[in-house]
Amino acid sequence: MVGARLRRIFSAAVILGSVAATPAFAQGLSIQSILTQGSGQSPASFNKFKRDLWPDAARRGISRRLFNRAMKGLQPDQEILKSAVHQAEFVKPIWQYLASAVSDKRQVNGKQKLIEFADTIATIEARYGVSRYIVMAIWGMESAYGEIFKNRDRVKPVIRSLATLAHYGGRRRKFGRTQLLAALEILQNGDVALDDMYGSWAGAMGHTQFIPTTYLAYAADFDGDGRRDIWNSIPDALASTANYLKKAGWKTDQTWGYEVELPGGFNFDLAGRHNRRSLKKWQNLGVRRTMGRAFPRPGDIAQLVTPAGARGPAFLMLKNFSVIKRYNNSDAYALAVGHLADRLAGYGPFSRMWPVEEMPLLKTEMREIQALLRKKGYRIGRVDGRFGPKSKAALRAFQRSRGMVPDGFATKNLLMTLRNAT
Ligand code: CA
Repeated sequence: MVGARLRRIFSAAVILGSVAATPAFAQGLSIQSILTQGSGQSPASFNKFKRDLWPDAARRGISRRLFNRAMKGLQPDQEILKSAVHQAEFVKPIWQYLASAVSDKRQVNGKQKLIEFADTIATIEARYGVSRYIVMAIWGMESAYGEIFKNRDRVKPVIRSLATLAHYGGRRRKFGRTQLLAALEILQNGDVALDDMYGSWAGAMGHTQFIPTTYLAYAADFDGDGRRDIWNSIPDALASTANYLKKAGWKTDQTWGYEVELPGGFNFDLAGRHNRRSLKKWQNLGVRRTMGRAFPRPGDIAQLVTPAGARGPAFLMLKNFSVIKRYNNSDAYALAVGHLADRLAGYGPFSRMWPVEEMPLLKTEMREIQALLRKKGYRIGRVDGRFGPKSKAALRAFQRSRGMVPDGFATKNLLMTLRNAT
């Protein structure tokens, strides 16, 4: 899961192994520091944690019987803590992420699933007003259409995972506790059996990878058996995804965005979510849809996203792009969902190539770029290895000062230039 660098964990669902795979709560924390933070660090105190949990559970209507059964013999899972502190060494380039997220296999399997569940997905689309291709693409992204559950390493008992986080999860213990109580509530409602309640190490559950609070708010019983079963019922899982997107503001019969071409000398300060304007106004700035196509509704408001700077594809993103990001707060994720949906619907690849010759930057190199920019007097916000709007603006200003195309895209070459700049 998913917005995650689990910023996303707090927005909605959480996917397994996505580009944004580093939980925010894990950053800068070692297992040891997690184990020694706060009260109750020893395995013995895990029993006290369970006892202390009971009053909160009781207040939520959890029966003593269920609580005892869920907690019986429960021990913390050290693997969860390892996952929680794991950080990728490289910043995965968007093209590598998209290559795996929208792989040929995922496209082929998605088209098969569209046929297999044709009636179900048509009814879901009619009821919720959310594109069948988007719903299918999210299923593909979140669980590879259920394939991930064949890998036992990635399937963990939700109660144990969340109890581990709730007790040992450092600054994110609160997240673990909230989700654990919500998970107990789901069991109390009888939607799923304790033994069937599996999920990721961070508690993202079933085919749609909903965290428990998201489940409680948005899961749907589509097959009408009285249970909201996103673990075993594909209709329930797909309808839950559609329901979540609908409640997040999905605009029926509209797409997520368009690939566009930018005019020469384009001002990249106009990119980003704080610069929304109508497609017509973007057109007036010289931005064109690719393949000579027209925008169907020129009045729609859009933001410009250039994931790989001036040398990669550019996109004007509509409201539905932001809706997809409610699932996982990452541009890369939402672009992958949108593109996979388009491929499932029979559209082709992007017109523009990605700058695939660029070597991935190490996280340490990203931080070095930020630190060098700061040293040169640019305001970059935090030196955290993540390139937010401030870092990008600083980078653009530096590029401009050196006569480079000011697109705010960090590369090895740019790092060298920064190191050598006096
Ligand atoms: Ca059901």
